[in-house]
Parts: sequence; structure tokens; C-alpha cells
Amino acid sequence: MTTQSASAEARATVYGYPRHGPRRELKKAIEGYWKGHVTADALRATAAQLRRATWRQLAGAGLDEVPTGDFSYYDHVLDTTVMVGAIPERHRAAVAADPLDGYFAMARGTQDVAPLEMTKWFDTNYHYLVPELGPDTVFAADSTQQVAELTEALTLGLPARPVLVGPVTYLLLAKPAPGVAAGFDPLTLLDRLLPVYAEVLADLRAAGATWVQLDEPALVQDRTRAELGAASRAYRALGALTDRPQLLIASYFDRLGDALPVLAEAPVEGLALDFTQAGAANLDALAAVGGLPGKRLVAGVVDGRNIWVNDLEKSLATLGTLLGLAERVDVSASCSLLHVPLDAAAERDIDPQILRWLAFARQKTAEVVTLARGLTHGAGAIVAELAAARADLASRAGSAVTHDPAVRARTGAVTEADARRSQPYTARAAAQRAHLGLPLLPTTTIGSFPQTGELRTARADLRAGRIDTAGYEERIRAEIQEVLAFQEKAGLDVLVHGEPERSDMVQYFAERLTGYLATRHGWVQSYGTRYVRPPILAGDVSRPEPMTVRWTTYAQSLTDRPVKGMLTGPVTMLAWSFVRDDQPLGDTARQVALALRDEVADLEAAGTSVIQVDEPALRETLPLRATDRPAYLSWATEAFRITTGGVRPGTQIHTHMCYAEFGDIVQAIDDLDADVISLEAARSHMQVARELAAHGYPREAGPGVYDIHSPRVPSTQEAAELLRTGLRAIPADRLWVNPDCGLKTRGWPETRAALENLVAAARTVRGELPAS
Ligand code: ZN
Repeated sequence: MTTQSASAEARATVYGYPRHGPRRELKKAIEGYWKGHVTADALRATAAQLRRATWRQLAGAGLDEVPTGDFSYYDHVLDTTVMVGAIPERHRAAVAADPLDGYFAMARGTQDVAPLEMTKWFDTNYHYLVPELGPDTVFAADSTQQVAELTEALTLGLPARPVLVGPVTYLLLAKPAPGVAAGFDPLTLLDRLLPVYAEVLADLRAAGATWVQLDEPALVQDRTRAELGAASRAYRALGALTDRPQLLIASYFDRLGDALPVLAEAPVEGLALDFTQAGAANLDALAAVGGLPGKRLVAGVVDGRNIWVNDLEKSLATLGTLLGLAERVDVSASCSLLHVPLDAAAERDIDPQILRWLAFARQKTAEVVTLARGLTHGAGAIVAELAAARADLASRAGSAVTHDPAVRARTGAVTEADARRSQPYTARAAAQRAHLGLPLLPTTTIGSFPQTGELRTARADLRAGRIDTAGYEERIRAEIQEVLAFQEKAGLDVLVHGEPERSDMVQYFAERLTGYLATRHGWVQSYGTRYVRPPILAGDVSRPEPMTVRWTTYAQSLTDRPVKGMLTGPVTMLAWSFVRDDQPLGDTARQVALALRDEVADLEAAGTSVIQVDEPALRETLPLRATDRPAYLSWATEAFRITTGGVRPGTQIHTHMCYAEFGDIVQAIDDLDADVISLEAARSHMQVARELAAHGYPREAGPGVYDIHSPRVPSTQEAAELLRTGLRAIPADRLWVNPDCGLKTRGWPETRAALENLVAAARTVRGELPAS
């Protein structure tokens, strides 16, 4: 390969780094501040110290440019809202009175004022706070935080590059403010927003920035001509400014597609593109537009959102190809390292052989540095690193963990019939009616009951060795008894055991399936101060023994009513984990599905007649580009049907999803062929019931009548009214009565009251049905 000329040594950089610190110091400081134990000054000092430590570490590891402005007390999109002065009306007084408290009020709400809405950052598990804009929004530049962080880094003598959410992505992520017509398009505010960005850019230049990065990940989604036109206009305008740093426009998570020529033509100095699997198409597309003559290209060749060691040889080859396509090529991770844990070296419980397959933020930074060196000086300069990576990849590829012949044989032998129930729904429904003997409008819940402090204490006690397994199980049994006794007394028709043994619906199964690894310190920010430790799906998946049968049958032994078995579906088991990148996702899903299929069979054999397979992640895992969706939906629905397809006609399969907007996957939901689906519906007044009806959904559905996201208890009349609304869309013999979602975040008092009202509402409305 050719190497970059010495006059233009490849620089190593990243776009962002985990914010929390090695011991989650940031989380502790912020939560301490909320509780009043930590002063604002102490919080600021902790934050500044963490930033400094991160920059020093990054520079010490060999990065030539460190990012600034990627740090946040809560969320970088909320920080952008502050930067452009788009504080919602209802929060303005609080922000004016105390910017820090006002900031947290926007993030979390207060007793009287609602927070900004939170939603997923593209197809990651990070959540951002949705900007609220309207025709009257007046922007005003506030570059304080960006300038302060840049100054901090420059003061340390480090070459720093501020990273901002770009103006087009900011507007595309926004929604109409409360009271503004739903049809309002935030993008119409672009001309008002650009001068604010111009001011911030000038301030950053004055503070010493030579480059500023503007992140435009929204441009990797399908965009209309008008939206692409807006992007073009935005960057022509910002490019034309005279008082500005050099601009690097970054995209990640997918290919740029039609937005690539738009950005390639823009009068800016650099583009950052994703060249991992997700953005692979960028390579040919870049060649097709004639490359980026005169521009800097930052190549994201190290996967910023998964945890596998990089194939350095392949990345170096990609970088070599790119050399001819831009004025200079620099090296980075594909996106902010915010999405991966800090340091694989902190993991002590993972088999050292397997640990070598893993690269967290710290290891990825080293990979970026190595690749930049290789690009500048040739492969000869990184011989040892290339050899080590080759050995790690070979160890992974040849391992019995990633290749279990029994699993391979079984996935290879799956037939179409395995993914199909033996009888069509109508025949099944008759068998289930006879077998279960449920009333019209049957009542049930989604699975979990309140996870009380006692339960969490019991789990902590078990971990710390204060109680033994027998003692812990005694607590779980007592909890199940209480949950069952309550449900019987309340008069629910299909009962659940309450999931007291599960702290997390994915982790519980991951701990019991071969092929998954757990981390001890692998924290990743989900939102604000909430961090999760996603399991790592590292190898071929199998189920050494039943995972849920014991607790389900114990619950069933306490009652004559049907107890619903409760499993997490294959798509969700992938979506909330780090997944393998060495085989198609569909293959991994099929392995998980077969393991779950065995669990379903064991539950059925043990006398469970109703089994729910939750798939709350089905929609969020939808690919960003429409053309990629049919393939995804095909393997996703197949995995669900493999999980559930083996049961007898009289066994009722339920599924559950937590969202109300499912228009773009309603056909896929139909294709799951579940007998019953429960969905969130209370807030939207049964909108999903109408949408299911409009689609011609032929099976049973339980649109939620109790909004579990709020401590509010719905009255019997209210729940009954929602049921009557539901009945206008779904006939009585196919309508179920249930809450929107699981109850684990609720307290017992409101759960009791709400479920009693729910049962009363079902009885009231049953009484209004014409006698058949
Ligand atoms: Zn849910």
C-alpha cells in the first residue's frame, strides 16, 4: 500500500469518550448533587477533573487531536439546546434563576414542570432529550460551555477539536413544542439557527480552535430532497463565513447515501465517514463522487459501538484505498466511544483468552493510534500490533466458543415448518378457548410486579454473601406467593409470577445461556445518570438447562387460574446486548430462538398453557435506511416464530411491545403470528387499536388501559371508557384488558388500586356486551 506523505502524517482522533469515569464518579457526583450531598462547585470540580483525566489519557495514548464538548452532565443534545438558546418556555424561569438546576429540570422535570421528552439516539441504546421548537422559537448563541471546555484542554497544552451537534441534525431531531401544530417542520427554522452556529464558531475560533467538528448523523437516514437541500444550504452558508475555524462534518451509524455528494460539494474543509460494516457502502460511493479533492477525510474504521478487537489488517487496507480519495486521511473510531464501556482490562472474570477478543474505549483508542501510525509509516511500523490482532482474530474464529458444532447443526437444520404453528389462528383460538375457558375481555398483566427495595436488598445480600442461595430463593418464593394472592383476590384472569427473580429482562436470560458473557465494569450510558451493563453475545448460543420453568410452575402450583410463562424474545436478546460481528445478525437470532424454543417446550410440558415472549426491541432495532428493513424484519419475525412455532394449538402465545407508534412494522407484528399482543395505548386513547383494526389485524390484542409510566391510578370509569373505545376497533372476543407495560417500576399501593380498577372496568364493560 502507499503511505501518506510525511508532510501530512495521518492524525489519530476520536469524536467522544465515555463521560462517567472509571468508577462512575460522574454519576455519583450528579446524583449526590440532586440529593443535596454534593455542592454545585464540587460537582463542577469532579466533572472538570474527569475531563482532564480523559484528555490526558487520550493524548498519552497517542491521539493527535482530542475531542472537547462531548462531555455532558446529562445529554449532548440538551447541551445543544442550551447552546442555541432554545430553552422551552416552561423552563425559562428556572434556567434564568440557576442554569445548572434549570438544566436538570429540563432533563428530569420538577414537581410542576414536565421534562423534555426522551428518545433513542438513532439505533443505539443512548437516549437524548428531544428539542421542542415552534414558529416563535428565538435562538440565541450561548457558547459558554463549548468555549470553557476547549480552553480547559488547550490550557493543558493539548490539541483539541470541539465537537458539536450539527444544525441540520439538531433540527431534524426536534419536534413541535407543546401547543404547536403537529405539522410544524423544525427544519423551517434553519435560517434562524445558522447565525447562532456562526456566532459559536467565531467564539471557538477566538478561543483557539483550528478545527470544529459538526456531527450530522441524521444525514445517514433516508432524507427528502428538501432535507438534503437544507443540508446543502446550511453548509454553503457556514462554509462562506470568514471568521470561523476549519469545519469537519461527521456522519456515522450508516452510509451517507444521497447526502454524500451534497457534503462532498460543500465548501468545508473535511468530512468524517463511517467505514465499518454499517458504513461500508461509503467507500464505493466516495470513489463514485470523485473523492474529496482538497479536503481532509477522517476515516471511522474502528467500530465505535461494538466491543470487538479490530481487524487491523483490513482497516489498514481500507485506509490505503482511501488515501487516493482525499487530500489527507486521518483515522478515528466510527462514532463517539460513548457507546462502549471504558476499559476491557478492568474485567477480571472473563476468560483471558476471550478477553483478548474485546476492545472497549481504551483499547479502541489504541487501535486508532496504531492505524494512524501504520497509515503514515506503512505496515512495517506496526508489525507487532498487526500480528497480535491477527492472533486474536484467529483465536476467536477457531474457538469452540464461537463454533459449537451441535448449535451449528441445529440452526442449519431449521425448516420452514419449524417457524410455523401447526394450525391457523382460527383453529388455535377455538382450541385455546376450550382449554383456557376465559371470559370475554380477559384481564392480565404484562409480567413484572413492583420490584421492591426488599427484593433489591435480597439480591445485593446474595451477591455479598450475606444470604445463601436457599435464603434468596425463600425470599423469591414469598414474593411470588404475595403476587399470586393479590392477583387471585383482585380477580385477574391470566396470572403472572411477577418476575421477582429478574433484575433485568435480558441479563437474566444472558446469565443462563451459553455463548453470553457478563462484564463487571462494562457500564454504558443509557440516559442521564442511568448506566447499563449490556451482556456480550460472544459465541454460539445454547441452553444448558431450563431457565424459568421452576418459578413459573411454582406460581402455577399456587392457583387454579392459568399462569403465563414469561420470556424475553430473540430480537430483544440481541438488541440490548453487544452482538457478534463475525456472522449475520439473523444467524445469531436463530441460535437464540432455538434456545428459547426449548424453554417454551419445557414450559408447555410442565403445564403452562399461556406463554408470553416479549419483543419490546423489535421496532427500535429497525435499520436506519428503509431499503435495509425488509431483510431485518424477515429474520426478526422468523426468529420469533422459531421460538414459538413448536407449541400445541391450545397453547396460547402472547407477545408484548412497549410502544404506541408501530405503523411502520404493523405487517411484521402480524407476521409474528402470536395469538395475543399487548401494546402501550393508554396515553394515545387506544390509537393502536384503531391502527390494528385498519390493518385488518386478525388476532387478539390488549391495548393498555393503565399508563404505568405514571404513578397516577386510573379510575374504573376511565379504564372502562378506554375499553369501550377499544371495542369500537376490536371485537369483544379478541380484546384483552391489561396495563401498558410491566409494573416493576411502580409501587405496590398504586399497582393494587390500578389493577382492581382495571378488573372492575372489565366487569362493567362485559356487562354491557349484548348476550350472545
Ligand atoms: Zn413494555
